[in-house]
Amino acid sequence: MQIDIPLAHEPSCAGCGGLCCQSFVLPIDTPETRQDFDALRWLVLHRGVQFLVTGTAWEIEIALPCSQLRADGRCAIYGRRPQVCVDYEVATCERHQPPHYDARIDNEHALEAWVLSRYGMRPADPRFPAHGPTMRVGLFD
Ligand code: SF4
Ligand code: SF4
Repeated sequence: MQIDIPLAHEPSCAGCGGLCCQSFVLPIDTPETRQDFDALRWLVLHRGVQFLVTGTAWEIEIALPCSQLRADGRCAIYGRRPQVCVDYEVATCERHQPPHYDARIDNEHALEAWVLSRYGMRPADPRFPAHGPTMRVGLFD
């Protein structure tokens, strides 16, 4: 006879409050020029905006809670929630896994420090690449 014993630390949403419903993350093009970093500076000057950088891959995270997140941390439309919510796996979610990015940039000073460490100069440096915007960001088009 086989007896299924639940794992003691099986990942669950119990007690979380819906951390993954508090914001959304979108990929953005890799910034390359002074104009790109100026656009990123504009974005990160807004409250609730941060960038997640992994290698050359950049993402923007915007801290706006989903309108369907109830006060008790549950989804008000669970049975008809969007597919992206259905596909999100609790075992690999941000509550149960360490951050997957190399750098989290949540203010203009952190952005400048990242650029300085990456390029050895600030975007305002005359030597910094300044051949126009290269990022295809829908927000700007
Ligand atoms: S999937 Fe993870 S982050 Fe989302 S509610 Fe469940 S435990 Fe919280
Ligand atoms: S629809 Fe439901 S599961 Fe999806 S983000 Fe909103 S509250 Fe969370």
